[in-house]
Amino acid sequence: MRQVPLGHTGITVSELCFGALTIGPLQANLPLKQGAEVVAHALRSGISFFDTAQFYRTYDYLREGLRLAGNPEAIICSKTYAYSRQGAMDAVEEARRKLDRDVVDIFMLHEQESDLTLRGHREALDYLYDCKAKGIVKAVGISTHHITAVKAATHLGLDVIHPLINKAGLGIVDGNREEMETALYAAHQKGIGIYAMKALGGGNLFRSADACLSYVRSLGCIDAVAVGMQSVDEVDANVGFFSRGHFSPAEEAALSAKSRHLHIDDWCEGCGVCTRVCPQGALSLKADKVYCQADRCLLCGYCSGHCPAWAIKVV
Ligand code: SF4
Ligand code: SF4
Repeated sequence: MRQVPLGHTGITVSELCFGALTIGPLQANLPLKQGAEVVAHALRSGISFFDTAQFYRTYDYLREGLRLAGNPEAIICSKTYAYSRQGAMDAVEEARRKLDRDVVDIFMLHEQESDLTLRGHREALDYLYDCKAKGIVKAVGISTHHITAVKAATHLGLDVIHPLINKAGLGIVDGNREEMETALYAAHQKGIGIYAMKALGGGNLFRSADACLSYVRSLGCIDAVAVGMQSVDEVDANVGFFSRGHFSPAEEAALSAKSRHLHIDDWCEGCGVCTRVCPQGALSLKADKVYCQADRCLLCGYCSGHCPAWAIKVV
């Protein structure tokens, strides 16, 4: 597994980043021991970079996976929706406590949309930079599905950006793939570390996984790629790809056979909370039930974390 510098942060990461959302309660909801074993297997296979978030509720899996693997060096990035100083402080302390580590290598503002949302989160951002000054955090950044936010983060000179980019342009909210590429090149030119999300469209592009991952790796402005993994087999397939540059026929067949979809239970109360939080505008209410426009859904599972009735989930 290639280890690469993450922009000019001084942090070195494995080119393949383990996306932890998929093992946690918003998606596979693996038992702790099983999820920790997947994390430990990733570590033993050369993955040293792990992406999580306060919202994902996967800190326990990472802590236990690291323990199982003998606590090797690993870089962890977390994110928070906090906009206030106190909220950001709570998020950083929760991550340090639950991950059982003094330093959380990278901390981000989750799902930023523009310079306006960044301004609205200024207190939280300033707090994260205070943590960097104290050495509790090594780099600060944002995650985003928006080109406008990539440009705003570049203008501010943040350390790291975690943008949505994929071959099909799926999920880019405010423009097309080419426009996102241009914004990412400009960010990378400034030394900002960039690791991609949703290279496989949240699972929608599993059938062309080889071409999709090759596309992201070929861009020249992406340091690392986060891929959600739920099993030891998926870890092996992705490590295989990043080690040799292509999937074996058996790995490709296994990935193609995987199918994830959004499931909405009969007991949906039609409260509409999920329609307001979906970053893709994929959900709408009809006759007091929620419906999903499948071609817009990125299977991120964010709606699941907000549903008061636990009636919507990625399975
Ligand atoms: S948040 Fe849950 S209960 Fe409310 S509309 Fe969405 S799926 Fe239904
Ligand atoms: S419907 Fe849910 S899983 Fe699909 S993109 Fe929206 S928030 Fe994500």
